[in-house]
Amino acid sequence: MKEVPWWSVYEIGQRICDKYDDVPANQVGSQGNAGPSQVSLTPAGGGPGAARPWGHLQLPRVFIAGDACHTHSPKAGQGMNFSMQDTFNLGWKLAAVLRKQCAPELLHTYSAERQVVAQELIDFDREWAKMFSDRPKQGTGGQSEGIDPKEFQTYFERHLRFTAGMGTRYRPSVICGEATHQHLATGFVVGERFHSAPVVRITDARPLQLGHAGKADGRWRLYAFAGANDHVNDQAGVRALCRFLEASPDSPVRRYTRPGQDIDAVFDLRAIFQQGHRELAIESMPALLLPRKGRYGLRDYEKVFCPDLKDGPDVFDLRGIDRGRGALVVVRPDQYTAHVLPLDAHQDLAAFFARFMLPN
Ligand SMILES: Cc1cc2nc3c(=O)[nH]c(=O)nc-3n(C[C@H](O)[C@H](O)[C@H](O)COP(=O)(O)OP(=O)(O)OC[C@H]3O[C@@H](n4cnc5c(N)ncnc54)[C@H](O)[C@@H]3O)c2cc1C
Repeated sequence: MKEVPWWSVYEIGQRICDKYDDVPANQVGSQGNAGPSQVSLTPAGGGPGAARPWGHLQLPRVFIAGDACHTHSPKAGQGMNFSMQDTFNLGWKLAAVLRKQCAPELLHTYSAERQVVAQELIDFDREWAKMFSDRPKQGTGGQSEGIDPKEFQTYFERHLRFTAGMGTRYRPSVICGEATHQHLATGFVVGERFHSAPVVRITDARPLQLGHAGKADGRWRLYAFAGANDHVNDQAGVRALCRFLEASPDSPVRRYTRPGQDIDAVFDLRAIFQQGHRELAIESMPALLLPRKGRYGLRDYEKVFCPDLKDGPDVFDLRGIDRGRGALVVVRPDQYTAHVLPLDAHQDLAAFFARFMLPN
């Protein structure tokens, strides 16, 4: 070796802060002395007009993120990933509060969500780092010291989603629904990162990744996966959902989008039908899926998709969507799945957003 440009030796430190903000655990809401991992911000239910569930709380004003609040071994390649996810989690919440879209109590969810998942990562890392440091077991006899390579491989495979950055699952909270309707879309797990899948955009028959439609721009995504007959049924499914979102006073789109904003400035609705693009007429789509936007009021033709029936896989099979009923997948600005609902659960959708968003 001619040159060593950089080297370091360091001791692995598995450390984690109790809180990622400046609010002591015993000052967080009505849960009294609940520890940080028990701060549930549990949904209170109720209709769109229902009071938000936080009560009177001390608001967090100072936040820490990344290695400042958690360190562990580099073995799972998670330090930077987790650190960036911390700030992604905090970023959209800060933006929503500063824009007065959401109540400032939303900021409590930053520490409540991220501290818990970092603890899970550290638990995983402790085991994993130990396995790495152990010598491989020699021979087949059960008596010899060290780690069995087969066990090592099994542990690695079991936690592959963690090492790929897809292992985080947020618990039900005010911004993460209960998985009551998970069976409608088994591949979009409530609380986990939205799992992209291939689709075809119907206007130009272009194959693309559905996940790429969701930019990191602070908007909520509503992915409406159509039931089998929704392309021709005017009374139910996707079209009824569009009518509710456009016209009902309870509609989150109407309640939280300010006058003068683009119709999809807060909620970006996308629809995915089951038929091929040749069977779907773009001009027959509801206006909400063809909105006029921007300074010149031009139509957005990029909101309707279908499965890639030619080359596959079919997104409905891949992500376990109920073909009869379809599903509405609600995705947070940080691209975590917040809820899975039936397409006709209009009031449940309204009630979910009423828990933390501020009406106009
Ligand atoms: C050997 C090694 C391998 C790794 N491999 C991976 C990997 O494969 N994948 C992965 O995801 N992560 C990996 N990590 C972890 C990753 O590097 C860290 O988790 C990540 O850099 C943390 O980012 P951060 O912004 O929180 O902290 P840092 O990157 O430490 O940034 C903090 C910054 O604050 C500055 N600072 C400190 N005090 C002050 C002060 N008083 N005033 C002003 N500035 C200050 C510091 O100079 C530094 O620039 C590895 C780490 C190590 C050590």
